Amino acid sequence: MKSSSRIILDKAATENNWNFLRSYFDGIKISAVVKGNAYGHGIPVYVPLAQNCGVNHFSVFNAHEAYVVQQFSKPGTTILIMGDMEEEDLAWAIENGIEFYLFDFERMQKVIELAARLKKQANIHIEVETGMYRTGFDADDISALIEILKQNRGALYLKGLCTHFAGAESRANFERIEQQKSVFKSVLSMFEKEGMKPEMVHTCCSAAAIRLPDMHYDMLRIGIMQYGFWPNAETFSEFMQGNGLEKSPLRRIINWESHVMSVKEVPANSYVGYGSSYYTHYRLKLAIVPVGYGYGFTRAFSNVGVVLINNIRAGVVGTVNMNCIAVDITHIDNVKTDDPVVLIGRQGAHEITVASFGEISNQMNYELLTRLPLDIPRVCR
Ligand SMILES: *Cc1c(COP(=O)(O)O)cnc(C)c1O
Repeated sequence: MKSSSRIILDKAATENNWNFLRSYFDGIKISAVVKGNAYGHGIPVYVPLAQNCGVNHFSVFNAHEAYVVQQFSKPGTTILIMGDMEEEDLAWAIENGIEFYLFDFERMQKVIELAARLKKQANIHIEVETGMYRTGFDADDISALIEILKQNRGALYLKGLCTHFAGAESRANFERIEQQKSVFKSVLSMFEKEGMKPEMVHTCCSAAAIRLPDMHYDMLRIGIMQYGFWPNAETFSEFMQGNGLEKSPLRRIINWESHVMSVKEVPANSYVGYGSSYYTHYRLKLAIVPVGYGYGFTRAFSNVGVVLINNIRAGVVGTVNMNCIAVDITHIDNVKTDDPVVLIGRQGAHEITVASFGEISNQMNYELLTRLPLDIPRVCR
């Protein structure tokens, strides 16, 4: 059965992005961050695509996402949970060799007990609170923490030591990031002095990976860039200038398409759709497209959104409904029911980018992508 829209992932673009990341970051290990349903791309389709590019390490936010990655990845793939887990998830993770963050003594105690009960070592990554104030052990608690780690070597395997920067994508945060770097370095040296060298150290998201090469250590946790986007405009322009580039080396993977559900003519001097936000001054031809705010096409696109039909741009008229939009096709010949409609992507000489989508709706690309509904079918080509 055909769904009202579908998301199509571009295999060649995925390969392009991974080749770029590998060469730019000079072979350092990269964990593909696939939280938020792989930033809206869909874990079940994106994870195998990334695996074809040689990715064997995935980071997620919660246990459910880890479970989905496990279902769609090859045996031997490393999965790391950076955030939320309930007690039963901890047991599942330990049993399945899923790695996870420890960021407070409460979870640590539970893990020690569970590991003993399951007779299995937990692969843990100690998250250090360096100044983001989200999760992580305070620097003051590190001595006590190291003691507990030493006493529970059978239960806890120190797989990683890590932190997360609070806004590395913006120069405005320079001092705060410098402070975070120095706290992290001092905590790392405490571990080393105690003979507790973690197997891997990792601190960098995409923006930090670009801007803080001295903080790369053993692994990068790359989210947004693998999908072909930059953390923000500042990081992008700085990168382009710094590398003397004119064209982004990254390519958008995601495309979003729907189709024409119906075509109709509207006489002059009529209101289109709900209410009175759009009034026709002359005779119009409309295509009705079955995407609305209930299906990922935000109401912010009322009267300003743009789609592509028959290789021509067509503007949204009237308000975005829950399940459909009307677009003006007066200037486009031969539009028929079932013709493809591009919501994000290229058609002929035109392109609807995620950035243009985001600008109109005042969403950052991260938010826009992750809000694409889970149930839109994802395919790749
Ligand atoms: C989301 C996230 C990342 C990836 O961030 P990007 O900006 O998308 O590269 C890395 N580390 C942590 C802890 C995260 O939550």
